[in-house]
Amino acid sequence: MYCKNCGKELKEDDAFCSSCGTAVNGSSNNDENASQKTADYYTNQIYNEPNRNTNKSSFNTFSIVGFVLAFFSGILGLIFSILGYNQAKREGTPTGLALAGIIISIITIILAIVLVIVFMNALYYYIATNPDFYV
Ligand SMILES: [Zn+2]
Repeated sequence: MYCKNCGKELKEDDAFCSSCGTAVNGSSNNDENASQKTADYYTNQIYNEPNRNTNKSSFNTFSIVGFVLAFFSGILGLIFSILGYNQAKREGTPTGLALAGIIISIITIILAIVLVIVFMNALYYYIATNPDFYV
């Protein structure tokens, strides 16, 4: 390539003309465009990637409701969590919250059953050891 100002032949990696000192625009300008494109690419990565991740990790309403209900009502929590799990599968979103809701619901149901059994046993024991209970 040649200097735009004086026409002297330039080396490939020259930033300035060795004859007149004019800045060489040719290849260095291309480099700037390339680095600008790289900067744009990373800017897009930074600003678009988290949004995409947020969308990906967003949970559907059924999963959230199911997860919350799981702590209070095992059966309702289980129903909503299964609905949430099916919806998450269909939409391709994470099923983690729905699965957690299903597991917690099952634990809540088991705990409720155990509590009822313990309570009934205690009640039967109380009745058996207190004959005047019915009086
Ligand atoms: Zn020159």
